[in-house]
Amino acid sequence: MSTLILGAGISGLLSAWHLQRRGESIEIWEAQGHVGGWVQTLDWAGPSGEAGHLERGPQGVLVAPGSPCDKLFTEIELKVHRPGHGARWLGRGGKLIPVPSHPVQLMLSPLLSVGAKLRMMLEPFQAVRPAEPEETLFDFAARRLGRGAAETMMPAMVAGILAAPPQILSVDAMPKLREWEATGSMVKGMGKGGRSEMVVPKGGMGSLPKALSAKLPAIRTGLRAESLQREGKAWRVTGGGETRLVDRVILALPAFEAAALLGSAAPQSATALAAMPYTSVKLYNSRHENLEGLKDGFGFLIHPPEGKGFLGALVPSWMDPDSAPQGLMQLRAFIGGAFPVAPGVDSVEGVQATLQHWVPELSEARQTRLVECPNAIPRAELGHRARLAQALGGLPEGVDWISNARFGPGVRDLVESLEAYEFR
Ligand SMILES: Cc1cc2nc3c(=O)[nH]c(=O)nc-3n(C[C@H](O)[C@H](O)[C@H](O)COP(=O)(O)OP(=O)(O)OC[C@H]3O[C@@H](n4cnc5c(N)ncnc54)[C@H](O)[C@@H]3O)c2cc1C
Repeated sequence: MSTLILGAGISGLLSAWHLQRRGESIEIWEAQGHVGGWVQTLDWAGPSGEAGHLERGPQGVLVAPGSPCDKLFTEIELKVHRPGHGARWLGRGGKLIPVPSHPVQLMLSPLLSVGAKLRMMLEPFQAVRPAEPEETLFDFAARRLGRGAAETMMPAMVAGILAAPPQILSVDAMPKLREWEATGSMVKGMGKGGRSEMVVPKGGMGSLPKALSAKLPAIRTGLRAESLQREGKAWRVTGGGETRLVDRVILALPAFEAAALLGSAAPQSATALAAMPYTSVKLYNSRHENLEGLKDGFGFLIHPPEGKGFLGALVPSWMDPDSAPQGLMQLRAFIGGAFPVAPGVDSVEGVQATLQHWVPELSEARQTRLVECPNAIPRAELGHRARLAQALGGLPEGVDWISNARFGPGVRDLVESLEAYEFR
């Protein structure tokens, strides 16, 4: 069977990796001049021209020992940094408060009231709810952990991953949550696969798609698919003056790109895919003098109403020591997403002032660089389950759609879901 994969983001590369291992003949087209989609590391030299880099998309991957990610990284011989567990903070009431990382810290934390802490500890005893009807991420968290935790912790955590409020998102925006609940409790489900830790490939996240593509047949970059038509039992794909007639087409594309190609071949799927919204974010990167306390931390998230569109900042130089020159600390602030941004926040000066508001000891930035991410993150709003079912139900034989909008927001979700996936 001949297969053409459209898109060489992580979804397309993983699809190719699994099909190749099953002995199938594959070809991959990628519209941009590089592989990896959002997983891309950009050079960013230091103030004196020292080596350094920043990420366009993911900063790292959560990996548990023996998990599908762990196995994949070993098979593709990916060398990684394992920074360990850095401190995290939540910005509330104008200051950064440490996020508890174990039950004793939780009991002592000022983040939650005593009642909210006790309710949270009852999570393992909450009944497992049937999947239907679909609920919001907020309702899921309130039901499992209590309203206190849902109102205090969830909005910032969800904003840090999906850049949108949990009140509008479906619980299916994070498929792992229901998977964990199905084991009886979140605590049990999370512990089942072993403790995950942040892993960053050496050379940056872009090393991951490079290592994967090195094990695949040559990928045609700079080749955008423009049309998809059925021809007898086969599929005709055209783009950039090229044509292929293949048995199977895998659309490893964001929903809106897949919708554009499926327009006449599968109108029901195209309509449902076009109705899946995406969120844009801006990433303001900056380098500062090292600051004790913050430099060895993961970063901080701000409770959304207080952030005024400033969602939080990570410390990439802690996760990936090769990203910044010696002695400098690299920050990456997230702005916007589905949240309104207050006037003055969305600029280099606005972000630096906001960073200094939360971290008053922070030195002035030695370097700054803005990376824009338009339509970067699927926004699986309530109703996503029905849209997904309609999209998949309308796909004709020989056409499949593989995407983080289907399998979950992170690289880990894609790796785990595709490991056992039966391609159509
Ligand atoms: C700012 C940001 C931060 C993130 N942080 C994390 C994180 O820390 N950890 C984590 O696990 N995940 C993170 N993610 C999510 C992760 O990056 C995505 O889940 C993943 O990269 C999605 O991969 P994909 O292949 O599904 O889509 P994409 O990366 O969008 O790839 C789709 C590819 O298809 C190509 N394409 C589009 N149209 C066509 C066409 N017509 N013909 C041919 N090719 C086409 C595109 O050029 C692109 O390369 C982050 C994402 C963003 C944007």
